[in-house]
Amino acid sequence: MWGHVMSDEKKPVRKKLKAASEASRFMANYYHELDAASQKGQPKIAWCTSVGPAEILRALGFLVYFPETHAAMLGATRMSTELIPEANALGYSPDICSYLTADIGAFLRGVTPLSRIYKGIEAIPKPDVLVFNTNQCRDVQDWFAWYGKKFDAPVLGIYTHRNVGKITEAHVASIAKQMQELIEPLEKVSGRSFDLDRLKRVVALSRACSELWRNVLETASAKPSPLTFFDGTTLMGPAVVGRGTREAVDVYKILLAELNDRIKDKEGAIEDERFRIYWDGMPVWGRLRAHSDLFSGLKASVLASTYCNSWIFSALDENDPFNSMARAYTELFIVRSDDEKETYIKKMLELFKVDGVIYHDAKTCPNNTNCRYGMPQRLEQQTGLPSLTINADLNDMRMISDEQTQTNVEAFIEQLEENQT
Ligand code: SF4
Repeated sequence: MWGHVMSDEKKPVRKKLKAASEASRFMANYYHELDAASQKGQPKIAWCTSVGPAEILRALGFLVYFPETHAAMLGATRMSTELIPEANALGYSPDICSYLTADIGAFLRGVTPLSRIYKGIEAIPKPDVLVFNTNQCRDVQDWFAWYGKKFDAPVLGIYTHRNVGKITEAHVASIAKQMQELIEPLEKVSGRSFDLDRLKRVVALSRACSELWRNVLETASAKPSPLTFFDGTTLMGPAVVGRGTREAVDVYKILLAELNDRIKDKEGAIEDERFRIYWDGMPVWGRLRAHSDLFSGLKASVLASTYCNSWIFSALDENDPFNSMARAYTELFIVRSDDEKETYIKKMLELFKVDGVIYHDAKTCPNNTNCRYGMPQRLEQQTGLPSLTINADLNDMRMISDEQTQTNVEAFIEQLEENQT
């Protein structure tokens, strides 16, 4: 099956969204602004985890840099695998987060994908402060601690509950308190006083960005889907690094309009969509293009994911900023118990009218891997939808067998084909 779909004359046609260039322009401006600030020492720069309290940092006038996005770029540019051993030599195991090991490895080697992609940028921006939230994992805490020492900058953190079932007032109160306690030390670094009205404005923009991003992702419920998961992994840049800014909101207004036009014209993201797939877990950054081609060549649209949905923060409310941020950053899929996760995935499978599920078992990220304790089997039993687990990794390409992936995916799509007849 694979042989014929990937022969030259049948290579899948990838339809590029015009709004993708808006997102790229946003990212270029974002990194150039950070680079300029890093060189001048003003405005101050805060490093933040991808689902950390970015709104508080922006409200205090910081430019915000997200090392995870940089680490994903190391993966997507296929720089990461050879950098990982540098961090291993310092005692960071090859089995822990390959974002962390690739990113620290890149720093030790003095390289960054930013200089390949953005003219004139030679290094990552220097932090004045680093702020993490353990809602996603403990690895971010160790990662930031290492850089805090390197740059002699303070490291602050929010320690979140894990495996949360129903979110209670006690959860919200304890996280909101930790968020409020960040204000005083952050004021000292920024040299600015905290202004509640400013925070409310930032939270309102963040919420607007989140709503638009949700609407963008939900366009994939249309048949055919105007958007794939692989598009989403790059289009989500502004939702991750730009939430709380007007510019990110503007990008998603343009993107949403274009996707709605596609729906009106019944224009799918891939040619002749026959199968609809949900992706659970991290992307394999070094294989985005290959996986996109593999699935679209089999007429399978991987159109929705837990991963891209992680930057939807529907609880944000400008009228109650601290409690709503606490709730939004605790409601996340990655923070929740298996029961909550299964309920969520079932809802998504229905919303996106899915035929099958791919689980990515990412070797170095157990936190964002959901197939190790029987979840695929339980969901298969409850929904009747077949699933396939791909063994790989986000950034360490030594963990991947491309042949095995190809064979398994082809067999899986054949199974879906049989289900349809
Ligand atoms: S969630 Fe996974 S990939 Fe992300 S920082 Fe934590 S260990 Fe790394």
